[in-house]
Amino acid sequence: MREVIIVGAGPAGMTSAIYLARAGFHPLILEKEFYGGKMNYTNKIKNYPGFDDISGVDLSEKMFGCVKGLNVEFEYANIIDSRLSENIKVLVSSNQKEYKANCVIISTGLKTRYLKCKGEDEFKGRGVSYCATCDGFFFKNLDVCVIGNGSVAIEEAIYLSSICSKVFLIIKDKFINADDNAIQMVSENDKIEVMLNTSVKEIKGNDKVESLVVKSSDKEFELNLRGVFISLGSEPEGSAFSELKSNEFGYFESNELCETNIDGVFVAGDCRNKFLRQIVTATSDGAIAASRAVKYIKMLSKKCVMSKSL
Ligand SMILES: Cc1cc2nc3c(=O)[nH]c(=O)nc-3n(C[C@H](O)[C@H](O)[C@H](O)COP(=O)(O)OP(=O)(O)OC[C@H]3O[C@@H](n4cnc5c(N)ncnc54)[C@H](O)[C@@H]3O)c2cc1C
Repeated sequence: MREVIIVGAGPAGMTSAIYLARAGFHPLILEKEFYGGKMNYTNKIKNYPGFDDISGVDLSEKMFGCVKGLNVEFEYANIIDSRLSENIKVLVSSNQKEYKANCVIISTGLKTRYLKCKGEDEFKGRGVSYCATCDGFFFKNLDVCVIGNGSVAIEEAIYLSSICSKVFLIIKDKFINADDNAIQMVSENDKIEVMLNTSVKEIKGNDKVESLVVKSSDKEFELNLRGVFISLGSEPEGSAFSELKSNEFGYFESNELCETNIDGVFVAGDCRNKFLRQIVTATSDGAIAASRAVKYIKMLSKKCVMSKSL
């Protein structure tokens, strides 16, 4: 039984751990993949104060260094279910281990949105990727495509054009959804071919990806390529925490103190319903959630009730 458990080791969860440890508590962080969260998907971070140009992986390492330096316990676990309404909160992992705590901070970020076309599952890790920064290197001097619209998809296409021989940017809409500057960068880049109004039918190959079947102007045809980068954005991961109140899009509802509809359960970072989802706002939430968690645990030991308004 713990005083507090943090689910998710992105910038929000790691900041919560730092604040809790510095307040004299012994939090446990549970993480299903790798510490750093979505920061690991970012090539260059230029808007986190104190660093004018740092890679996401390096910033993750620096934050995790602070967490380790405070002897915070870290464990790999994928939380798939929870019972949060009782005084003792229970988190259940995918291998059926139960974790119990007085207080829980949920900082699980967002999950990747899938394309759901034929061949996607079959070729995951064998040509299908969801992160140009992580996997672009494996496609040096090869032809690839980016599927998606919006600033992240454009950024990925531009990044891949510096490594690959050709990048097809496949957009199902009739327009590019990005600012003028990004659109100009794409149109001036000889290696990027933008295919508007084009839908994906199938990813094909043998051992690895070999081609993509697309449909444009009612015609189906095949593009020969080796890499398929799917960049369709993200959505909240709510199924493990079904007792928490969320909005129509699945973001957890909380007040400005990161308190949820359940006493002793706090949310921090991208998974919250809020205006801006960035590293700096994730760390801010992490600090606030941890400070309120400290107060909650102290109140519990004094057997008082903490007032809140949601
Ligand atoms: C391509 C890209 C570029 C970006 N560029 C920038 C930028 O330049 N500047 C900026 O400020 N922001 C940027 N962002 C946004 C920024 O990365 C996020 O806002 C930030 O990482 C959110 O932090 P978080 O801690 O809330 O969530 P995340 O970083 O998503 O971390 C959540 C963690 O929780 C873990 N987790 C999820 N579910 C479970 C579970 N059930 N059990 C256990 N663990 C779980 C995940 O594995 C993950 O490690 C970018 C995002 C992307 C995708």
